[in-house]
Amino acid sequence: MKSLELKDRIEAQAYDSYGQSFYELHEKEQFVTVGNAVMEYLVPKWIESKKKFSQQKQAYYFSAEFLMGRALSNNLTNLEIEKNVKETLEEMGVNYNILEEAEDDAGLGNGGLGRLAACFLDSGATLDYPMSGYGILYQYGIFKQNFVNGFQVEEADPWLDYENPWLVKNSNDTVIVEFSEADKVEAVPYDMPIVGYGGNTINTLRLWSANAIEKFDFQAFDEGKYIDSVKAQNEAETISRILYPNDSTDEGKQLRLKQQYFFTSASLQDLMRKYKEAGHKSFDDFSKLHSIQLNDTHPALAIPELIRLLEQEGVEFEKAFDITQKTMAFTNHTLLAEALEVWNKDLFLSVLPNLYPYIEEINGRLVSELKEWKVDESKWDKFLIIQNNSIHMAFMSIYASRAVNGVAAIHTDLLKTDVIREWHGIFPNRIVNKTNGITQRRWLLQSNPQLSAMITDLLGSREWITDLSLLKDLEEKYTDDAVLGRFIDIKKEKKQELADYIQFHEEIDIDPESIFDIQIKRLHEYKRQLMMAFYIADLYNRIKADPDGQWTKRTFIFGAKAAPGYYMAKAIIKFINELADRVNADPEVNGIIKVVFVENYGVSYAEKLFPAADVSEQISTAGKEASGTGNMKFMLNGAVTVGTMDGANVEIVEEAGRENNYIFGMEVEEVEAKRGNYDPEIPLQETEGLAAVVESLTDGTYHDNGTGMFQDIYDSLTGGDEYFVLEDFADYRETQDRISHDYRDSKAFYKKGYVNMANAGKFSSDRTLAEYAEEIWHISKFQ
Ligand SMILES: *Cc1c(COP(=O)(O)O)cnc(C)c1O
Repeated sequence: MKSLELKDRIEAQAYDSYGQSFYELHEKEQFVTVGNAVMEYLVPKWIESKKKFSQQKQAYYFSAEFLMGRALSNNLTNLEIEKNVKETLEEMGVNYNILEEAEDDAGLGNGGLGRLAACFLDSGATLDYPMSGYGILYQYGIFKQNFVNGFQVEEADPWLDYENPWLVKNSNDTVIVEFSEADKVEAVPYDMPIVGYGGNTINTLRLWSANAIEKFDFQAFDEGKYIDSVKAQNEAETISRILYPNDSTDEGKQLRLKQQYFFTSASLQDLMRKYKEAGHKSFDDFSKLHSIQLNDTHPALAIPELIRLLEQEGVEFEKAFDITQKTMAFTNHTLLAEALEVWNKDLFLSVLPNLYPYIEEINGRLVSELKEWKVDESKWDKFLIIQNNSIHMAFMSIYASRAVNGVAAIHTDLLKTDVIREWHGIFPNRIVNKTNGITQRRWLLQSNPQLSAMITDLLGSREWITDLSLLKDLEEKYTDDAVLGRFIDIKKEKKQELADYIQFHEEIDIDPESIFDIQIKRLHEYKRQLMMAFYIADLYNRIKADPDGQWTKRTFIFGAKAAPGYYMAKAIIKFINELADRVNADPEVNGIIKVVFVENYGVSYAEKLFPAADVSEQISTAGKEASGTGNMKFMLNGAVTVGTMDGANVEIVEEAGRENNYIFGMEVEEVEAKRGNYDPEIPLQETEGLAAVVESLTDGTYHDNGTGMFQDIYDSLTGGDEYFVLEDFADYRETQDRISHDYRDSKAFYKKGYVNMANAGKFSSDRTLAEYAEEIWHISKFQ
């Protein structure tokens, strides 16, 4: 794109959209204008892309969440017009960084699961695979987090209040979703372009927005009932109003069920309509042209819905089931029993009375197979979709899918040997592993241009941007200390950038010479943010006892949102904020350690945090974290992991070497052995420093403003310590102390980080996506 042409486009767009000169607009409007100009450039390529794939089998990623973050820089990078656009804007007197920050994050997800969906879309388009995403256009994404007196306070995220340049409304493809005869809405699709790196393929993320069929009741209005006149529209819009902010536990709300049905039904109708329009006379070829991936059970209603829609087209049940099973594949994301979705049958019937009979039909088919397989009736509770007045979404998804996958090797093994071992016994080939990944375009190229430039220099090519396995060659490029010196300088620079950002946003001064030790992820007891907080509280006590001792400077950084209804998670946030206040305000200590809890952690904040980390905290109770992807982002940016043998940590140390990371704590088997014969009093009394820290929860050292929250944390630890915070603390403390010791030899320490970066190739979502494409979806790249 020529610079002059771009300038003209931007200026013209400003007049078109706002009737004003571009230079008169405020930042958000300038962002929208530039976005519109980029769209004008990419739309013809997008149309080309749609055409080229129209004849081949496609993959459809169904997900209730797509945690996309910002799109401007990503689109510019992937279209390879970043330099040009930035230069042009500079000539026009516009600060690109301000413009970039003016874009609201598309926060249509909670955490890892939603971000994975976003990374997959990026990889799919980059690898030239025909792949579309289907989801919901939430009017409000994940809430904004504020801290008030150290407590989390949620605020709505009206990310669509400004015009969004990336969304194209496609009213022609509107469909009707019928919950029941009396309850129907319109589903209106908005399409977002997914630009692959290099710009050869632009795929589509289609997000549905709910609308009333009768938007305005004129009669009611005429009778003076103004509220009634828009009631239907309000009720309909509620369906796509808000993303459920709970991570992994089942919200169990009627509205949530409606959302799930809303987007899966709309998406399937969309696919069937296009299929018929392409001239197919029967549905015999449907599964040969469509692979649908169910991202967890949130879209699992696609199973009975596809059967229902096929039966409506005259396909009999057995055939419809067969087509459905060949079309669907299912990803399991959790080992937490409480997170497996189960719907109360009566609630389900009240919302989706017409869909329920199809679930019964599927369950009936399963029952006859259970008899055929001679499964003892006493074991049917491990299989039945409908039992005890409830509907088991995971069982339905396993039964009616072609493939079921876990998201890291250890997770998949646990699925096979524990969580769903009975299913594994019946279908020994159905459960497969697809270890998660992250896109290096966003998590390195864009967020860490300095390290990217170094990698390109060392490797002598930019090929790693689309083939991350090439990073392995960085090991042999490590010929002298100059290489490490540059790596360390870049880390320092990123730490300084983060320090400036934190100074501005959190008003806390942190020292880039200190170790940056970072834990950023959703707040959950199993992730054990509390254990890291206890280490800090203990370290504080130790420094106070010996202020002139040989301490290594360290900055502890947290970022995490707690589900609004998750009491213990909110209590832990309050505790960490109190701890931070105490540490940061103590002049005897605050030159050695600092604690920062960044407000409103999300994708854009993450892009600043990962590149600046020295230490990556991945300290979940073994057997609880399915994979993690934050761990991979840290690794790729050259941090070392302090972590348990859980999720993808296992594969991270397999790739980069245990000696280059800090592994500690009980492993899965030990956790299992401990459960049931665990007395938290023992580690509490036997671990140096621990009792003082735990007691400080309730002895007046830390204040919870009279809420009783800290007492509740105390009680949960002493009354069972479900996540073994106390049991693992001794080993964690010793390991953390070792990090402080090792950091004194900074070359040796950063060499470990360098080796981690060089061995991060496996964790590209390009690798993951290619595995899905070849082994589950059977789709091919555009030839
Ligand atoms: C990567 C990412 C996550 C997932 O983090 P985990 O440590 O794997 O739980 C969550 N939120 C955001 C914003 C992310 O970028």
